[in-house]
Amino acid sequence: MGHTEQQKALIQWWEESSRDLPWRQTRDPWSIMVSEAMLQQTQVSRVIPKYKCFLKKYPTPQECAEAPLSSIIDDWEGLGYNRRAINLHRSAQKIVEMHHGLVPDTLSALLKLPGVGPYTSRAILCFAFEEDVGVVDVNIHRIISRVTGEKLTPEEMQEKADNFVPEGQGWVWNQALMDLGSDVCKSRSADCENCPLSNYCRWKGEGLDPSKPKISTTNPKEKFEGSDRQGRGKLVNALRKRKIACSELEEVMGWTGDPERCKRVVAGLIKDGLVERNGKTGYRLPT
Ligand code: SF4
Repeated sequence: MGHTEQQKALIQWWEESSRDLPWRQTRDPWSIMVSEAMLQQTQVSRVIPKYKCFLKKYPTPQECAEAPLSSIIDDWEGLGYNRRAINLHRSAQKIVEMHHGLVPDTLSALLKLPGVGPYTSRAILCFAFEEDVGVVDVNIHRIISRVTGEKLTPEEMQEKADNFVPEGQGWVWNQALMDLGSDVCKSRSADCENCPLSNYCRWKGEGLDPSKPKISTTNPKEKFEGSDRQGRGKLVNALRKRKIACSELEEVMGWTGDPERCKRVVAGLIKDGLVERNGKTGYRLPT
């Protein structure tokens, strides 16, 4: 990529086919930050109603920072991966303490916020502050690998992604790439015939896919059923409703007859700050 015609082709395609999503109608940095936290690992359709409710209740970092963590975890219900709620709450507190309640607008300051990594920091820079930076999520990573036909290191990938952004159009460019990745250049099927980048793409669906490792080095997706994550989720969900006694743990977590596993997983939840001891006899959400 990098040529004006390709950039124009993609942007034109997007303008004709773009989806209207609530976080695309705002440039408010806090709203963008909330949307990005929710969208990590949760489907768009599930995020939309939660995003709206959350921002109604916590329209600025200040409101979020002042709320007890238990409320934030409560309001996260249905999104999964509750650790993101803790990170968002801690980030809000840091934003209030160190940035006068305003989401920072530099990469270095954003990267210091809990749970904000190379992807989220750039997503905030691009989607809130309209900076011309490459936002490399899994979709964009895949497209760039395929278009260049190369396997790139993370640094090379970031550099390419930054270089591909047409000047002054970072916002629309990254939105367009994300939609292309979810609708056309998909992980398992690339619809190259209907792709606005097909004239410029080196891979085009033929031969080995440069976006996939030659030999799978990643673990197969962790099975949810019967996993520690499932037990963690069950306990946090139960705690959203009431405090839980130690004697109830096995039943609530779905591991009757395995107190050791319950203890180990609860210890992990406490360490992560998601659960607290409630005296000596039980547990509660952190206050
Ligand atoms: S031509 Fe095919 S492989 Fe290349 S970017 Fe488009 S959909 Fe993806």
